[in-house]
Amino acid sequence: MTLTTAPRGTYDIMPNQALAWQWLEKNIREVFLLYGYGEIRTPIFEHTELFQRGIGETTDIVEKEMYTFTDKGGRSITLRPEGTASVVRAYIEHKLYGQAPVAKLYYLGPMFRQERPQAGRFRQFHQFGVELIGDESPVADAEVILLAHDLYRRLGLTDLEIHLNSVGCPHCRQEYKRVLTSMLKAAAGELCPTCRVRLDRNPLRLLDCKNAACQGILSRVPPIQNYLCTDCRHHFDQVVALLETVNVKYELSPRLVRGLDYYFRTVFEILNKDLGAQNALCGGGRYDGLVEECGGPAVPGVGFASGIERVLTTLEQRGKLPEFSNSPNLYLIPLGEQLSAVAFSLATTLRRAGYIVELGNGRKSLKSQLKTAHKSGAALAVIIGEDEWQAREVTFKKMDDGSQKRIAVADLATEIVKLVHPSVGTSKMGKGSQERSSVDDLIDTLQKELAMVNHLVVPLTNCTNKEE
Ligand SMILES: [Zn+2]
Ligand SMILES: [Zn+2]
Repeated sequence: MTLTTAPRGTYDIMPNQALAWQWLEKNIREVFLLYGYGEIRTPIFEHTELFQRGIGETTDIVEKEMYTFTDKGGRSITLRPEGTASVVRAYIEHKLYGQAPVAKLYYLGPMFRQERPQAGRFRQFHQFGVELIGDESPVADAEVILLAHDLYRRLGLTDLEIHLNSVGCPHCRQEYKRVLTSMLKAAAGELCPTCRVRLDRNPLRLLDCKNAACQGILSRVPPIQNYLCTDCRHHFDQVVALLETVNVKYELSPRLVRGLDYYFRTVFEILNKDLGAQNALCGGGRYDGLVEECGGPAVPGVGFASGIERVLTTLEQRGKLPEFSNSPNLYLIPLGEQLSAVAFSLATTLRRAGYIVELGNGRKSLKSQLKTAHKSGAALAVIIGEDEWQAREVTFKKMDDGSQKRIAVADLATEIVKLVHPSVGTSKMGKGSQERSSVDDLIDTLQKELAMVNHLVVPLTNCTNKEE
């Protein structure tokens, strides 16, 4: 059983599903490029200490969820549970702070957390995100928020809600923590066991607790916004003002603190309306102390992370996922093994011209090959039979209506171009006259190449296909 079953919390992305992933990834890369971000690919595992320092010892991730093991050299290694710590480590290691004032990096790939499997949660899951390191201005915060928002909008999601808060700086947070601790200590008996432990270590984390009793007590606690220092207040007001200049709607969320220890000032989540707070499409914020915490210089940073599975599920639920197809444009059907060489050569020519081409098995009957051609979803079948080929002709069969006609090999290029558009490599084709010349070019190229196929001398004796 274990041999033929993927480990718990993991799954395979099959070819028909991968088309949606590829489409999403393409959109992500294009939007990130528009905002000036370059991709960084960090290892899938890092030294455990990086995540302990970079995520925080008192977080659920570090306390309970990491895939940690000792390698043969006795080192403690952890499969990355998120992307930011690794990017910050690479930023420091490659001294990016010495190359330009600001580094704009994005990542995309699998992450690993040993959570209890539940609907929509996986142990190997996928995230993408950006890190903008070296800019302390509110413009950076607003840009990162807008980048995520623009991406979801481009994917076709409407009803987006930006939830926004400030968690202050270590200076003003100190005062808030003091108030929070004294209020919560008075009600410690009613708190859940986890919160009771956290009360001394990091009282801010209690704001995340989903326990109903804890939520009741927390509703009486004043929001952190009331305790922001002048600088933090000013920073937050500017982020909000910037979002207003581009007419992006937001909601102030005084209880939003995000689970990670390193957040500083701005924190945000973007939700698709009606999916509930559990279903944020992304979360992020500013983390000005993190680079220094991880052993680098004191430079500020801001970023967000988003789950690919979550985005795909949301798009599907909203009916916004496009129909994808990688069906062949043409299905070549050689009748007899000898004609397989002709079909093979023709397929190569057409593939080089940008057509998706499937090649039938010349040992199989016409009926059997047509059945496979139908299943493949090909638009057009090209039947290469003995009689036809001796007359230097082939049969075109349109798969949608079943109509067929014989085409002289000399006219093959013109006829194919007329009936089917190549699927690959057509991006250079412009509109109008430019498109015209591209089509002519394609016909020219095909004709030259097909002349070679036409001259293929195929011995038609010993033909084994007698079924039809
Ligand atoms: Zn402050
Ligand atoms: Zn609790």
